Amino acid sequence: MSEFINVSRIFGENVFNDTVMQERLPKKVYKELKKTIEEGKELDLATADVIAHEMKEWAIEKGATHYTHWFQPLTGVTAEKHDSFISAPKDDGKVLMSFSGKELIKGEPDASSFPSGGLRATFEARGYTAWDCTSPAFVRQDAAGATLCIPTAFCSYTGEALDQKTPLLRSMEAINIQSLRLLRLFGNTTSRRVTPSVGPEQEYFLVDKEKYLQRKDLIYTGRTLFGAMPPKGQELDDHYFGTIRQRIAAFMKEVNEELWRLGVTAKTQHNEVAPAQHELAPIYAEANVAVDHNQIVMKTLKMVACRHGLQCLLHEKPFAGVNGSGKHNNWSVTTDDGINLLEPGVTPHENIQFLLVLACILKAVDTHADLLRESAADVGNDHRLGANEAPPAIISIFLGEQLEDVVEQLISTGIATHSLKGGKLDTGVKTLPDVARDATDRNRTSPFAFTGNKFEFRMVGSKDSIASPNTVLNTIVADAFGEACDLLEKAEDFEVAVHDLIKKYLTDHQRIIFNGNGYSEEWVKEAERRGLPNIKSMVDAIPALTTEKAVALFEKYGVFSRKELESRAEIQYEAYAKAINIEARTMIDIAGKQIIPAVIRYTRFLADTVNAVTAAGAEAGVQTELLQETSALLSDTKEALSKLADVERKAGEVEEGAALAHYFHDTVIPAMEKLRGPVDLLEMIVDKDMWPMPSYGDLMFEV
Ligand code: ADP
Ligand code: MG
Repeated sequence: MSEFINVSRIFGENVFNDTVMQERLPKKVYKELKKTIEEGKELDLATADVIAHEMKEWAIEKGATHYTHWFQPLTGVTAEKHDSFISAPKDDGKVLMSFSGKELIKGEPDASSFPSGGLRATFEARGYTAWDCTSPAFVRQDAAGATLCIPTAFCSYTGEALDQKTPLLRSMEAINIQSLRLLRLFGNTTSRRVTPSVGPEQEYFLVDKEKYLQRKDLIYTGRTLFGAMPPKGQELDDHYFGTIRQRIAAFMKEVNEELWRLGVTAKTQHNEVAPAQHELAPIYAEANVAVDHNQIVMKTLKMVACRHGLQCLLHEKPFAGVNGSGKHNNWSVTTDDGINLLEPGVTPHENIQFLLVLACILKAVDTHADLLRESAADVGNDHRLGANEAPPAIISIFLGEQLEDVVEQLISTGIATHSLKGGKLDTGVKTLPDVARDATDRNRTSPFAFTGNKFEFRMVGSKDSIASPNTVLNTIVADAFGEACDLLEKAEDFEVAVHDLIKKYLTDHQRIIFNGNGYSEEWVKEAERRGLPNIKSMVDAIPALTTEKAVALFEKYGVFSRKELESRAEIQYEAYAKAINIEARTMIDIAGKQIIPAVIRYTRFLADTVNAVTAAGAEAGVQTELLQETSALLSDTKEALSKLADVERKAGEVEEGAALAHYFHDTVIPAMEKLRGPVDLLEMIVDKDMWPMPSYGDLMFEV
């Protein structure tokens, strides 16, 4: 058996958290820092110097030799540049380990190669990282040794955000301010800060590393570009919540321990729907911490997988024909004294504050459905959204029976008199305990579902950062709260005004509520009738970022400037074009250098066999038929390959930006599909020993 792990002892041991700070920092310094964290006060350099010194001493005790400003540029992954703590040798040739307040607070990576969407030219490439002291520093242990990682935001010389973190922090400030206004209207005078809480459920696949290394498509693009369906897929649902295999269990154990040491509250783990698919969810945390932790989770999954001879696939759609991976983003808004604004209570119809919050969220999501959709747009996610496994590409809200009933009462009669009750669950088995039934069932097909005391935004891709969905959520809800407060603060009779406003919002935005089957064809038609946008691809989603509506919204709350939004749109188009270009080139490479040669070998083998069998005086009908079938598909493959190579080459003539992204979407992707068709058929015919790469079956069932 494995060794005993004392979770409460190891939890957070590599984090410079509140306990460590309290222990190590002089009282005055600790107080100053807390003020900065809690009230957003600026930190003076003298205080920062003391903190930096203590942080360094603590990190060195953990074995750290380097520190890094850890940031999240717009590449979708984290970035870091390591500096060791050593200072220039003195006369005696010895070095000291030093780390100043300035080095803690501010960094200046030469970051000219990060995407900036035109915000910087390479000749004016200064970029700064600034310490986000609301997310704790940590020591990461890996092959590089131990490194002190300091979570930072990344901005340009002129202060524009070049990362995921800066706008997220700005949006948290927006929702803080507007939520406090709303709470004050209801007589709350005690809450001092309101923060969005986020719990992301991370899905991923695990495959055998050796097999992974034989698939150039997985190596270069993170997903398979060819592959016939195995005899068995996910139809039996026997993997979902199934017993976790020992090899995977050992992996999960190590992932959990690593995460706990880093203060990440890894909580839930289970097998997911597709074979070789799994999920990990932490306990929810403040939005910016949750964003950082999710990056740590993704990195840890990858790193630990390597140690177990496994490869972790975070791509949204590693395999065609079975479910892809997403990241349900659970979101709520909570005060520093523990009030969750999304808690309906036992009798939601009487909870006016909750009903106003709910009405505001309906309004926000309906008004800015395009922005939410865009925030989940990602090249890989195009394979999921609307493809009958993940939520549809149409944004709607699931409220559940109880709340929908309250909303209907309010809209039709203007007053809500009762809330449906959950009652007891009757299993028909006397020996089972009485289980209280929730007032509301779940709906797995909804992209935005109310689940008790939080909303679950289910569109986010598994590989994507959760920063932008939460930035959008925070801002659109802050805006709805703000507009409601503008009216209610001026109202002569608050009771009447709030009642009227709730009714108005619910009535105006009722169309966003949908409790039915989001995967159905009828819903697509119904949504169209209701005028809800159905944005099918990333390229069609990007324009939402730069509409006048979006610019006005984000500028009003200081979350994004017009320039920043335009730069982000540009980066998204570029990212899309680049990703599809790599996929196309990988297909060309694999088809030309691996598949066609393998099939030619197989046809030669068949031809030789036909000759030998005929010479021996026997009938070679089957061999001849196979040879003809294979040759015909080979010829289709060659033709499709030439066509793909041709359109890929012509991409060079298309203007960069939106035009190029559309070209890849409209012209290159169909050519890729045309090539995949005959290749997948060939895989079903050609001798398995001659096929140049592991099959879907090998990858998904032999882990
Ligand atoms: P589910 O049954 O939908 O998977 P869980 O209770 O397991 O729900 O929660 C899923 C995720 O939602 C977890 O990360 C959990 O911590 C998070 N979560 C729970 N409550 C809240 C909340 N009030 N706000 C934000 N996230 C939450
Ligand atoms: Mg869930």
